Amino acid sequence: MKVRLKAGREKSLLLRHPWVFSGAIDKLYGSPATGDTVEVRAADGRFLAWAAWSPQSQIRARVWSFEELDLPGPELLRGRIEQALALRRALGLQESTGEDAALRLVHGEADGLPGLIVDRYADMLVAQVLSAGIERWRDVLADALVEQTGCARIYERSDADVRELEGLPARTGIMRGDAPAVPLEIVEHGLRYAVDVLGGQKTGFYLDQRDNRRRIRELASGREVLNCFCYTGGFSIAALAGGATSVVSVDSSCPALELARRNAQANGFDASRTEWIEADVFRYLRDARAQGRSFDLIVLDPPKFAPTERHAPAAARAYKDINLNALKLLRPGGLLATFSCSGGVSAELFQKIVAGAAADAGASARILDRFHASPDHPVLLEFPEGEYLKGLLLRRN
Ligand code: SAH
Repeated sequence: MKVRLKAGREKSLLLRHPWVFSGAIDKLYGSPATGDTVEVRAADGRFLAWAAWSPQSQIRARVWSFEELDLPGPELLRGRIEQALALRRALGLQESTGEDAALRLVHGEADGLPGLIVDRYADMLVAQVLSAGIERWRDVLADALVEQTGCARIYERSDADVRELEGLPARTGIMRGDAPAVPLEIVEHGLRYAVDVLGGQKTGFYLDQRDNRRRIRELASGREVLNCFCYTGGFSIAALAGGATSVVSVDSSCPALELARRNAQANGFDASRTEWIEADVFRYLRDARAQGRSFDLIVLDPPKFAPTERHAPAAARAYKDINLNALKLLRPGGLLATFSCSGGVSAELFQKIVAGAAADAGASARILDRFHASPDHPVLLEFPEGEYLKGLLLRRN
């Protein structure tokens, strides 16, 4: 089965970009089922790639390989898992060895497996199958993961919205082995966190922020901290460990806050240093200002406001609003760690939005540092879309 592209539309594939959009396709030969392998050829007939066919998605095919000899199949897929694990080991991450560690083992396109996410939490794997191609090879991949990681259990959390775009129904449940203990415990940079892989967000924990949490820990000493969108308290626990005098944590999710409290306790922090608030952050920031509160370190790590560029204008307003109101709560000399995990908002645009927010807040600030996802979430040079998480560390003058 074969796909022929329109003239000129081979350019991105020649640059090894792994997506074929529906608009680039001139002709389809044969009738591939969802997830079947198709051969992608340029208008002049030249071979470009092997790809997984996804008839319902705007991303009509996702590339498995750019080499004609690398035909997709069990061998190629097992090899990709092997390479992903080898990369984590080569990074020398402490998390790739520790028994209670948590680590992203497979990060989709960046590991040559478009649409597959695999996170390891202690001896448990949690997988997200987010594309038709991965769905087609689900069993081969699951077997390879068990065999190569030595983890007997895989839990599936394929309940992300993007599955709908692929025409795939949501699916959660045991993929291999038996059910996980809930919540299970992991250790990150020496701190203990409970993770609910069954009911938590995504696969249960935001591993991409691991090293940024450590950075906040280094900065928190003696500071009054506000952690907005705290989820299960990742940055809050880090700040407490770093010697924050107090930490106020805000999230709209009650179960997340419950785990956050439990995490603070498990790490032995005095409850009198913590305040857990179930609220809408947009509201809370305004109320806190009205109450005359102020802080020395504020973390803003909101959910994805802009999944794609189409959502960027609305997202920009939301980012501006929270950054503006957070800056108003920040004492002179205070630090703001502000993040965006929106694929549709570039690092450059995000910085512009934050600059606009600072100007409107009447606050001048310096950029002390920039944040990215931890290195177990690599970015393919030829697939910049993979770089979704960005952040700024600002110091208010
Ligand atoms: N910083 C966290 C991850 C944050 S994820 C960590 O390191 O683990 C984003 C969080 O924002 C989620 O917990 C979600 O419940 C919360 N959230 C989403 N919209 C919100 C809103 N309007 N107000 C408060 N919390 C919100």
